Amino acid sequence: MEKVCIYHLTLDELKNKLISEDFPAYRAQQVFDWIYRKGVSDFSFMSNISKREREKLSGIFEFINFEIMSKRKSADGTEKFLFKLRDDLSIETVVIPEKRRNTLCLSTQVGCKFNCRFCVSARGGFIRNLETSEIIKQYLDVSRAAEITNIVFMGIGEPLDNFSNLVKSIRILKAKEGAGMPARRLTVSTCGLPKAIKKLAGLKLGVKLSVSLHSAYDEKRDKIMPVNRRYPLGVLLDSLKEFSKVSRYPVTFEYVMIKGFNVSLEDARRLAKFCNSLKSKVNLIPLNLSRGGLDKPDEPDISKFRDKLKRHGCLAVLRKPRGEDIEAACGQLRASLGAKKPF
Ligand code: SAH
Repeated sequence: MEKVCIYHLTLDELKNKLISEDFPAYRAQQVFDWIYRKGVSDFSFMSNISKREREKLSGIFEFINFEIMSKRKSADGTEKFLFKLRDDLSIETVVIPEKRRNTLCLSTQVGCKFNCRFCVSARGGFIRNLETSEIIKQYLDVSRAAEITNIVFMGIGEPLDNFSNLVKSIRILKAKEGAGMPARRLTVSTCGLPKAIKKLAGLKLGVKLSVSLHSAYDEKRDKIMPVNRRYPLGVLLDSLKEFSKVSRYPVTFEYVMIKGFNVSLEDARRLAKFCNSLKSKVNLIPLNLSRGGLDKPDEPDISKFRDKLKRHGCLAVLRKPRGEDIEAACGQLRASLGAKKPF
């Protein structure tokens, strides 16, 4: 019988599996406690479970390991981990320390299908989804080094395009018997997939949603985010309204500022109008890396844009890029390996 990776399973799934193997149900809570609170990755350490049962568990389940290929710390404290997966592919995970929190940025896919023009993650194309266990293992390995207070699904890949594994990971991370991450500290970032947004809303997981908007004009968004040709802004907005109905938190719009492209005062007015049609807030991010002829705006244009938004009643926070020196900033993941071996 092939062994099941223990990190694949939600608490309920583990419970059911254990019951079917004649264990008492409460063993599932104990195992979750050992793995997600005590950081144990071997049944032999689980001292409140009998030796006979531990051996039986080892026969059913396995733990996967990542090889840490590199670990780099930026001058601003941002840390980037490069993990090697079982099939020799690699993914990146970033920890961003702030005053009172440590935010973990998780990857959900190897590569990405969506091909946003400004993003390097798309450069190598799409290879495969990460399994639930591979999403969870990023958390487990990194939380050994830093106490994680917030998690954003904002690394490589499109989380909503790996829907069921994303949802399982969220359920696992939320479990009080384990990592116990409050749902409001989990944020899913998407390029804007309306069907999946609605599906996520329906599950009422309580997580926050962040949408990579980058323009409130369809014609402009089409140019930098091909996904907009399939799901234009109107359709996206409908799905966000549905999400908003079940969420206690505003939707966040990420807005990458690109020189001479999306930072005119007209762009600001349009963005404000779009954002004001729903409970939301805006993060402004000056483009990282010049790519495909795109560049970040000059300082005065950034401030003017932000002021204009404010005058239209739209509150925007200007985000400083973190971890630029180690290529760990937004959209920069995978930049260092160049085009030869993207993953
Ligand atoms: N696919 C998801 C999550 C991964 S991208 C999404 O689209 O949201 C994470 C964030 O980094 C997105 O907001 C994306 O638009 C942004 N990003 C990508 N490339 C960037 C760049 N060069 N500069 C600044 N932000 C970038």
